[in-house]
Amino acid sequence: MTSRTLPAGAVVENVVICGSGPAGLTAALYTARANLGPLVLEGMQPGGQLTITTDVENFPGFAHGIMGPELMETMRAQVSRFGTRLELDEVVRCELDASPFVLHTSNGNTIYTRTLVIATGASAKYLGLPSETRLRGHGVSACATCDGFFFRGVEIAVVGGGDSACEEANFLTKFASTVHLLVRRDSLRASKIMQQRALQNPKIKVHWFTEVAEVLGEKEVEGLRVRDTRTGAETAWSNVKGLFLAIGHQPNSAPFVQWLPHDEVGYLLGEAGSARTQIPGVFVAGDIQDKVYRQAITAAGSGCMAAIDVERWLESQGGH
Ligand code: NDP
Repeated sequence: MTSRTLPAGAVVENVVICGSGPAGLTAALYTARANLGPLVLEGMQPGGQLTITTDVENFPGFAHGIMGPELMETMRAQVSRFGTRLELDEVVRCELDASPFVLHTSNGNTIYTRTLVIATGASAKYLGLPSETRLRGHGVSACATCDGFFFRGVEIAVVGGGDSACEEANFLTKFASTVHLLVRRDSLRASKIMQQRALQNPKIKVHWFTEVAEVLGEKEVEGLRVRDTRTGAETAWSNVKGLFLAIGHQPNSAPFVQWLPHDEVGYLLGEAGSARTQIPGVFVAGDIQDKVYRQAITAAGSGCMAAIDVERWLESQGGH
């Protein structure tokens, strides 16, 4: 790779990790313990998606489960113990055509680094309706854990048929009088156990072949106009006062897609069986490169792989 000429006095990091979910923090843990002094740019949602979930029952080591935010806080404390630097900042633009790489951040910093781990994860998707955008934060949400509390004793709707939708619908029954689960086809995509929990919950009413045509209300959600996906027939529901979206995620890869191969949605494509990319010294981990498994534990595992690949790469370049 071409060498970049640096401005006088420029500090060059061994490794910068973008993202602070399980992938980023595991990469930080391993590189910190390898004495590489990692810098983590935490992004605008430190801790990532687990900070907006409740019970995590499938992360090994917690027999009785653990709350998502607590798990991330623990990981953060663990990486800090080994000297990881964590900064509330994110990459908005980068130059990966020569080494060291250059990262431009939202705080206006320019960072030089020998290696880069991209672990920026994915964010919740919205339907894209103007009424939905207008009422975001006023009854429209993509985070049941954050906003469920505001819907005590009222009827609300959840859109989606995956594990997220079932989990959120179940969680929201703690607050809402009825949770309407709007599924656009005739079955759920969720795992069997999550389906069972949702379908057996007496406070959840599943509406098959149903999608949202419009969110009603000017200043807050006052109802929904829903559409039958088979016939196109529309009905107004004035009983629903909140709308939660749980329709999947969009990878946070915007600053990087110009440099790295990616699929049509923006998931970065790494080398099979490793965290390497086609740019030597740039590695990917977690949901940014995984649209299949998308679990905290697989993200953590790939963060570990990235850290080991970083160490080997620096070693092959003559150490650090
Ligand atoms: P998924 O991609 O699995 O599911 C998205 C759901 O939203 C699908 O039912 C899809 O419908 C529906 N959908 C997508 N776009 C629209 C739209 N425009 N209008 C209406 N419905 C739409 O996403 P999830 O976030 O549920 O799950 C992602 C991953 O995370 C999965 O691997 C899941 O297993 C995992 N997960 C695990 C949890 C756990 O184990 N505790 C909890 C949450 C997530 P269709 O089926 O028709 O495409």
